Amino acid sequence: MSVRDDRSDLGGGFSSDRRSAEPEPQAQAGAQAGRPEGPAADAVLVLKGNYTAIGGEPDTASLPEANPKRGLTGRLKRMLADRARALVSETCGDMPEAAKLASCGVYVRAGINDVTVEKHPDGYAYASGLQTCGSVWACPICSFKIRMKRAAELAEAIAEHRAQGGTQMLLTLTTQHSFGESLDEVWADTQDTWSYITGHSRYRKLKERLGLGFCRTVETMHGLNGWHPHLHVVLFSDTPIDMFDDRELWNEIIVVFHDLWVNRMRSKFGRECRSSVAVDLRPIKTDGVEGAGMYCTKAGYEVAMADGKEGRTSTSRHPFAIAFDAVETGDCRDIALFREWIKGSHDRRMWTWSKGLRQRLGLDVEKTDEELAAEADETVGQICIVSKNLWKAMVRTRVGVRAAFLTALDQGADGLPEALDLLEGHGLEVVVEPRGTSPPRLRLASERGRL
Ligand SMILES: [Zn+2]
Repeated sequence: MSVRDDRSDLGGGFSSDRRSAEPEPQAQAGAQAGRPEGPAADAVLVLKGNYTAIGGEPDTASLPEANPKRGLTGRLKRMLADRARALVSETCGDMPEAAKLASCGVYVRAGINDVTVEKHPDGYAYASGLQTCGSVWACPICSFKIRMKRAAELAEAIAEHRAQGGTQMLLTLTTQHSFGESLDEVWADTQDTWSYITGHSRYRKLKERLGLGFCRTVETMHGLNGWHPHLHVVLFSDTPIDMFDDRELWNEIIVVFHDLWVNRMRSKFGRECRSSVAVDLRPIKTDGVEGAGMYCTKAGYEVAMADGKEGRTSTSRHPFAIAFDAVETGDCRDIALFREWIKGSHDRRMWTWSKGLRQRLGLDVEKTDEELAAEADETVGQICIVSKNLWKAMVRTRVGVRAAFLTALDQGADGLPEALDLLEGHGLEVVVEPRGTSPPRLRLASERGRL
């Protein structure tokens, strides 16, 4: 029989109820949280490049050591993100839902011959001219880009609405979920209940009265009690409301969402929500404009580009934390979980704005995830050019080399000798073609030069 749980899995969430929730005894499983039962070692899964067959020793020898005091280095973060993407594409690339993943960051875009390594204004090197998959759910690299842009846009909306005199609140809705329940099922119920709320007369009356609009996002964790999608909703009220001065009104808003969410979950889906944590409403503080935008996408973006130590609590993990664990341990159960994640998240929207709100707040027409991921990044100049063939040789079978190559070039042209040593160390014979005052072009010795 399943074990039901409606505790929030939001690591670092800021409801006092959540903080005081006592972890269950089995919650000490740490990074093992939520792995399905079953032997990991009997499954045979052969991974290319630096990966080893599952059952053997995981190859983490080439990963730099983390500094326990300062956390993981930028180099290790990029390497893990890069490896996670490669791992996901190799182990999930056969799924129709992940069709574009295998090309992401590997193949150059149509009509482009060389990959350009550029320097970002923030000081790091990145490659441009490559195909992107645009998957906010499955690709750690694209997800990071998309989430950062969406969070910045939400922060802009909050600032504008505040300038217009409105009040912004953060509503979090969680529900009961159980181990063994499919991601698809619990996600569908969550989505259905939100639609029910926004179509209900009680919400609509409140909306008319206060001038309410919203931006709703979804985050999902996986833990001892299975998949746990939860909603973060930024509510924009044109009528200013103070949590303390307008206590009655504040409570009325909570009651409307609570009644609709909890009752519907119970009556239609048989999910018992614990009242103290199912619905949480709090004001977005003046100094939290950036913070609120980021909070809504927090777990995902921290994990997407971070160190895999983020996006997890003692009992649950964000899907990208699962992917990072798979990189470090090669555990087939994590790969199976990530495959389920790709299937269940496919075609779902992470962000939804209420009708007309974006226009009212002066935001541009909303771009798709694919468009955001494909947008050119800012640059302060080129560091070098890499031939299409050299790039392919670098990234297709030598997992992790791309990240190390770019990290060497974070120093700009001064990092070229280190980058070339690295390529040579991986068996790539590279020729450097000078291009006058322009940055040099690197190509394989075996391919024809341009000179
Ligand atoms: Zn991607």
